[in-house]
Amino acid sequence: ATVEDYLQKIKEKAHLNAFIEVYSEEALAKARELDTLSSSKGKLHGVVIGIKDVICYKDHTLTASSEILKGFTSIFSATAVERLLEEGAIIIGRLNCDEFAMGSTNENSAYGKVLNAADETRISGGSSGGSAVAVQAGLCMVSLGSDTGGSVRQPADFCGIIGLKPTYGRISRYGLIAYASSFDQIGVFSINIPDAALLLEVMAGTDDFDSTVASQPVPAYSKEMETGKKYRIAYFNEALSHPGLDPAISAAIQNKLEDWKKDGHTVEEVHFDLLDYIVPAYYILTTAEATSNLSRYDGVKYGYRAKNDINNLESFYKQNRSEGFGWEVKRRIMLGNFVLSSGYYDAYFTQAQKVRRILTNQLSLIFKDFDFVCLPNSPSVAFKIGEKMDDPVAMYIADIYTVMANLTGVPAISPPVYPS
Ligand code: GLN
Repeated sequence: ATVEDYLQKIKEKAHLNAFIEVYSEEALAKARELDTLSSSKGKLHGVVIGIKDVICYKDHTLTASSEILKGFTSIFSATAVERLLEEGAIIIGRLNCDEFAMGSTNENSAYGKVLNAADETRISGGSSGGSAVAVQAGLCMVSLGSDTGGSVRQPADFCGIIGLKPTYGRISRYGLIAYASSFDQIGVFSINIPDAALLLEVMAGTDDFDSTVASQPVPAYSKEMETGKKYRIAYFNEALSHPGLDPAISAAIQNKLEDWKKDGHTVEEVHFDLLDYIVPAYYILTTAEATSNLSRYDGVKYGYRAKNDINNLESFYKQNRSEGFGWEVKRRIMLGNFVLSSGYYDAYFTQAQKVRRILTNQLSLIFKDFDFVCLPNSPSVAFKIGEKMDDPVAMYIADIYTVMANLTGVPAISPPVYPS
């Protein structure tokens, strides 16, 4: 399909609310420019990509779906975006998400919710809901999201597409708005594995602007898609028989494990008793990092500034932040300040760091004997819009399966699994 076709489709599906902004003229101009190239075509020649509203694109608005950043224009592009452009990609627009990537439904957005294209009464998942629906509904070929605790994998799952969270440090975070810096990674949404592999290959690799990027050479992922290799796959019974998990999802995964066995892969149960510690550790550490990362939004340097006459600095900050941030972001800033406060620091923050270390050690042991750990993505399928809005704790607990990959830094992919 051509850029025109995508623009037409985006118009037709505007009610899904996946795109916040569409770069129509620019995308068309880029397509015309690419058409004149006869040689030196890039690996992503003409690939139409949407990007989550937390990734910088030079001279374009960037808001993290927050009132506090409305009107902010980025003066540089994220390294990941630069690399896509160098290979001939066309960036078609900016995609809706939960404010500062905090959430699991895309309902915490200053631009409103995103509808799941498979059933418009249901949530898209989040926080990268716009990125998931844009690919699901065919509004772009592939899209970028960010994954701090499942925000690529869970919405991909809810929309029936592929979501890839690379290893921590595989893709530069330069130009990605920080939520929790030691967890955040840019990830990819696609409808097939080769597309995800190609995008990863283009974006990965060292970057002078992000010292946490791994120095290992980047394999040609798109060419190393072996078929026929037999893998060793671990699963945790504690996860599959968890009382919170929808039995239909558990059954679908067990069927998949059986299929893999029949295909000659090794599938074995591994005992894992740390499941209950994962969500608390994740929310303590990510809110602590978020509190610090979000302190820069004070109304002076970027975006929103309150209108009233204010005569002292403290009430100036207070008013800008009170009016600029949404409820979920404020809740997390308060939680983060609490777990870092003197008197509670050791009880919460230090303990959670220890849990993170124990999890990492345990997972390294498992990966000595296995290539993959198979876990559910989410305890349920996409639920109805509004259904869980007033129960933030239930929403947090639903992150039980995805956050381990970010706590330990391992890569994770969410392919669709259908009940058989
Ligand atoms: N649902 C998780 C959270 O709210 C994941 C967020 C993310 O990965 N950005 O923190």
